[in-house]
Amino acid sequence: MTTALEPVLRLGISSCLMGEEVRWNGGHKRDASLLGLLNDYVEWFPLCPEVEIGLGTPRETIHLIGSVERPRLVGTKSGDDHTEAMEEWSRRQLEEIAGWNLHGFVLKRASPSCGLFRVKVRNAKGMPEHTGRGIFARELATRFPLLPLEEEGRLNDLGLRENFIERVFVYERWQRLLRDDPTPSGLVDFHTRHKLAVMAHSPELYRTLGRIVAAAGKTPWPELAEGYGIELFAALAIKATRGRHRNVLHHLLGFVKNELEADDKRELLEAIDDYAEGLTPLVVPLTLLKHHFRRVETPDWVGQQVYLHPYPKELMLRSHA
Ligand code: SF4
Repeated sequence: MTTALEPVLRLGISSCLMGEEVRWNGGHKRDASLLGLLNDYVEWFPLCPEVEIGLGTPRETIHLIGSVERPRLVGTKSGDDHTEAMEEWSRRQLEEIAGWNLHGFVLKRASPSCGLFRVKVRNAKGMPEHTGRGIFARELATRFPLLPLEEEGRLNDLGLRENFIERVFVYERWQRLLRDDPTPSGLVDFHTRHKLAVMAHSPELYRTLGRIVAAAGKTPWPELAEGYGIELFAALAIKATRGRHRNVLHHLLGFVKNELEADDKRELLEAIDDYAEGLTPLVVPLTLLKHHFRRVETPDWVGQQVYLHPYPKELMLRSHA
């Protein structure tokens, strides 16, 4: 159940993943596990680029031919070229999508229109020669470079799934900041709450973001927000390893360790080590730490860390990671 306190996320999605019968063969590719996981938190915005440009259902299959940077979208039998139609529709549609205020987009893998990674690009004889992006996916990523994008197939990987969902929730908060409090002090507050979450992904970019925030009062807002946003989402795109999580957990431990009994401290250190060695999920040391944070006084900014509550606990992602 969604609680009134949780944000409502707005995600675009390739409509065949919603169960709409829009594929070339008249079928769909409903992703029941993804929809089941996120339905309580998400308002979906489905879109089928190939139907939108008038190819109809069922239809001839199409594929990408030519260069990786700008392949042609052509019918496999007829050779009909749909490239301009898809590019022009995508650019028009993306202006409309800008008004949907999305927080992410889930795309269908391997599609010459929607595929985000490693879509086959063929040579003139029709043989796969390179890999690239579907045309709509390419235009989407160009128009909204910070918007979290992912393919449904990759979301079966629990690490990639957690990464995508974390980015979506951060993006929602980032958009809220830009809309409601676009000020240096708003940015300082945002950065303070996201410090440890960023540190788990990239200590280097954590320091870069700190430098950007330190100059917040001297940098014009558009430049400040753009620079911070680019580095923030670059950091979050880097996989958060068990080693980096261990560093963050030790950092958090530092705020309570002097107040703990020797047994409690040993238990926490063991829980962190077990997690770092892959023996337990992240939720184990985190739950112990949060238990001690409730008993021990810590600085306000520690309790405000989104690292401790990155998304609704019902998603249970940290029970697997
Ligand atoms: S992959 Fe994209 S273009 Fe193909 S059927 Fe699904 S939504 Fe339509």
